[in-house]
Amino acid sequence: MYFYKASGNRQQATGHQGIKFRSPDTRRLSPLNYMQQMLKDVYIETYGCQMNVADSEVVMSILADNGFKLTHNIDEAGLILINTCSIRENAEQRIWGRLKAIKHLKRKNKEIIIGLIGCMAERLKKRVLETDQLVDIVVGPDAYRELPKLVAEAESGHKAINVLLSREETYADISPVRMDKNGVSSFVSIMRGCNNMCAYCVVPYVRGAERSRDPESILKEVKELFNSGYREVTLLGQNVDSYKWNSDDNVLTFAVLLEIVAQVNPLLRVRFSTSHPKDISDDLLKTISRYNNICKHIHLPAQSGSSRILKLMNREYTREWYMGRINAIRSIIPDCALSTDMISGFCTETDEDHQASLSLMEWAGFDFAYMFKYSERPGTRAARKYKDDIPDEIKTKRLNEIISLQNKLSAISKRQDVGKVFEVLIEGPSKRSPDYFSGRTSQNKVVVFPGKGRKKGEYITVYIERCTSATLIGKILE
Ligand code: SAM
Ligand code: SF4
Repeated sequence: MYFYKASGNRQQATGHQGIKFRSPDTRRLSPLNYMQQMLKDVYIETYGCQMNVADSEVVMSILADNGFKLTHNIDEAGLILINTCSIRENAEQRIWGRLKAIKHLKRKNKEIIIGLIGCMAERLKKRVLETDQLVDIVVGPDAYRELPKLVAEAESGHKAINVLLSREETYADISPVRMDKNGVSSFVSIMRGCNNMCAYCVVPYVRGAERSRDPESILKEVKELFNSGYREVTLLGQNVDSYKWNSDDNVLTFAVLLEIVAQVNPLLRVRFSTSHPKDISDDLLKTISRYNNICKHIHLPAQSGSSRILKLMNREYTREWYMGRINAIRSIIPDCALSTDMISGFCTETDEDHQASLSLMEWAGFDFAYMFKYSERPGTRAARKYKDDIPDEIKTKRLNEIISLQNKLSAISKRQDVGKVFEVLIEGPSKRSPDYFSGRTSQNKVVVFPGKGRKKGEYITVYIERCTSATLIGKILE
């Protein structure tokens, strides 16, 4: 569930996404009106995973209903929101640096309100509000409905904060303001929080307990997206396989939800993320294989190839179980692409454990992967119970070995596609030339091809002629 490159280091995930929308023409306003108008211009910078991107869209929708407008120019904004990520220490440090950098805007204009929202809110509220005085408001992921009220409080000179986590909030009734740039693919959040308690992970602490969103509201959102031209949705949750909706003694599972979303229209591609190896069911795999428009790509984070480490991580599966799930995917959906997440240097990891990770990756032949060094997060089970005992040089060395193996596997995966034909959904002009277009296969691989006169959102058939390390290059078959 990420918006960074298909292969390589997930550190790329934490790049900020300044939101590009046109702001009102402020030149014709009187100085007073100009000031009032500016206070209502909001600039949002989003860090972290796709879930945060989807959350920023919910935040913008709540603010738009209260008279705020998006601006892409931070210098024009009266309200600056930083949607934060806590997953690794380096993600937090980057945001910290960014907050310090934007504080200078307040020196130019004291009226500006700066807010920290999202995953860092609960953990760092005291430091950010009081000790370092970097922001005026702090709002946690379950309190976004309160934002207009909190902004008003901050405008009257008070620091405003709400970091309460909720057992119910899913923002089901809110129609997110779309911030993606291509107008073809969009995220749809189907659940929030997580109940899994993986030992290294801060998500259950900063985003709260798992709750599923009403399927009716999901369907409504998906239909609206399709009707406004979108051709791909990615259903998002920390563990989509545990999606559950109870109504009239019936339980609607993720496999059923995926099926009803796929039935919205055969021209709508459906993706989802993230699956958990302990929960992904054959039922789900069979659903994916039955529908042409459910994309043939599964992101199944392994984290480690060593059963001993997986146990310490509290992942609730073994290496053999994981391999069994991959075998099931390969037999039920033969053309399915597979990607994973790997962590190097978790507590007590030996060289043998690390070799087990490499051998699992090689065996699975992942098409791409997101790879990280273990980063201890305060309050997690690992931080409380285990020593972060792998020296940084060893974590880095192992991570580099994992990355170079994945580069090799990704190259093999792309070379295997040369000479094949794929249905591609066009996402827009390619960066390299206006005559070239770029799109994706069902397997989530990027394809570039000459496509003069073509439009984004169209499906085309492409013959793959060659590949680079990141891209397939082909030509359209009429
Ligand atoms: N819920 C998803 C899952 O279980 O696969 C992913 C959640 S997390 C936002 C994304 C990835 O970040 C994880 O799969 C894991 O590889 C990585 N991650 C989480 N906590 C980490 C930590 N403390 N240090 C390094 N990587 C971490
Ligand atoms: Fe974190 Fe594990 Fe939940 Fe994923 S499943 S969000 S890694 S606790």
